[in-house]
Amino acid sequence: MDDKHYIMALDQGTTSSRCIIFDKKGNICGMQQKEFSQIYPQPGWVEHNPKEIWSSQLSVAVECMALSGIGPEKIDAVGITNQRETCIIWDKETGEPVYNAIVWQCRRTANIIEGLKKEDAEYIRKTTGLIPDAYFSATKIKWILDNVEGAAQKAKEGRLLFGTVDTWLLWNLTKGRVHATDRTNASRTMLYDIVNLKWDERLLDIFGIPKSLLPEVYPSGHNFGMTDESVLGAQIPVAGIAGDQQAALFGQCCFDAGEVKNTYGTGCFMLMNMKNRFVLSESGLLTTLTAGFDDEPGYALEGSVFVGGAAIQWLRDGMRMIKTASQSEEYAKESKDCNDVYIVPAFAGMGAPFWNSRARGCVVGLTRGCTKEDFIRATLESIAYQTADILFAMEKDSGISLKNLWVDGGAAANDLLMQFQSDILDKEVVRPGCLESTALGAAYLAGITVGFWSGIEEIKANKNVGRRFVTQMSQEERAKRLKGWRRAVRCALSWADDEE
Ligand code: ADP
Repeated sequence: MDDKHYIMALDQGTTSSRCIIFDKKGNICGMQQKEFSQIYPQPGWVEHNPKEIWSSQLSVAVECMALSGIGPEKIDAVGITNQRETCIIWDKETGEPVYNAIVWQCRRTANIIEGLKKEDAEYIRKTTGLIPDAYFSATKIKWILDNVEGAAQKAKEGRLLFGTVDTWLLWNLTKGRVHATDRTNASRTMLYDIVNLKWDERLLDIFGIPKSLLPEVYPSGHNFGMTDESVLGAQIPVAGIAGDQQAALFGQCCFDAGEVKNTYGTGCFMLMNMKNRFVLSESGLLTTLTAGFDDEPGYALEGSVFVGGAAIQWLRDGMRMIKTASQSEEYAKESKDCNDVYIVPAFAGMGAPFWNSRARGCVVGLTRGCTKEDFIRATLESIAYQTADILFAMEKDSGISLKNLWVDGGAAANDLLMQFQSDILDKEVVRPGCLESTALGAAYLAGITVGFWSGIEEIKANKNVGRRFVTQMSQEERAKRLKGWRRAVRCALSWADDEE
């Protein structure tokens, strides 16, 4: 009889819920995915229905077991990874959410951030490692308490619970027995002191949030509790939780100081492992906690590109130059040097290291010779240039010179983009065999905690390289290209300067 055992990862993302079952070698043995509704009540507002988050996540887990023929008795542990910062508040007794989930992308609380006192903003920076923004959970919690009838009163009476998505899933998986989160998710609430590892009283005060709302915080690899038998058909330990980007860093086995992964999705998210060094960036990068097991906290520098793969979606849906994202590569191959055209896709301002919310996109260097192929190539290259800007900032802030860059995410499948990334960075770019680093990270955390894997040495041995991209560009060419890109960025920024 087959007595193979497995680990289940629940990967709750912004647009879909997924379940992946892994074996001991880190192979994918079952995978199911379901999209769920995006709710846009007003321009700039984004919500999800918490019950749909839960039902979609539960159904993919159940289907994944049924379709792969791997029953709950063969699953040794469950790991959770999730969209970060998204805020859910529910009634402790009934389990009913008092409002929809307010999603990380939602800008409705920007005014709360603008109204922060300067000394409070500075306090946030040095306590949480974050740059105050509506993106993080704190102002979203405040908004629900201030705007949902009766919520503030109930919260004061200790009748409500807050959670990021991991906490909401854990609470439902355990039928309301466990209200907890992990450090990586806590570090994105803008309420957690990442140096002393505790909810910060002054921050709770600033945002008027009663402490009774908040979950217990544990390391990412931890026995959080058993799933209720009625949920997955057996009691299974939930033994790993990490926010999606930290889970990907773990799944990529970037355990050493200076190791970096970049995920090329809709946006790009880059994390550099700093181990036990808490460093505040000079260039507007965030400092955040990494996933781990012990009591010693680990830190990472994080930077994101707002418009990554989304620029390719724009070529497809807005410009209608391509029919599928992967076609971008076929067209781009026909262009050698973009005809010296640069495209800066600053559709919604520019993030790190420039931080200008009024900057807008631009196309520069057009001549009569520019073709559709050049235009597409310039758009693809913009993803690599933006990534390079963040990486250079990270190297400066950390004082560490990078050896290579580990990549994953949908657009990392594009060979031309990966080659150009290597060329423009003058670093090796390494794409692992398994691009599902996020789910794999959650599985590894849970599996190591229950002893399914013996430790990080064993999972490192699972890692296989899909392809390495080695720099082919000359030093002169690289310098010329980077200079062109910087000129183009200045155009995008000066467009904002002259705004009336
Ligand atoms: P997310 O998790 O943010 O939804 P994914 O990791 O699924 O993103 O990646 C999807 C993104 O990657 C889309 O923005 C898409 O345009 C882009 N993408 C997918 N395949 C390619 C490709 N071959 N070349 C360039 N971009 C791609």
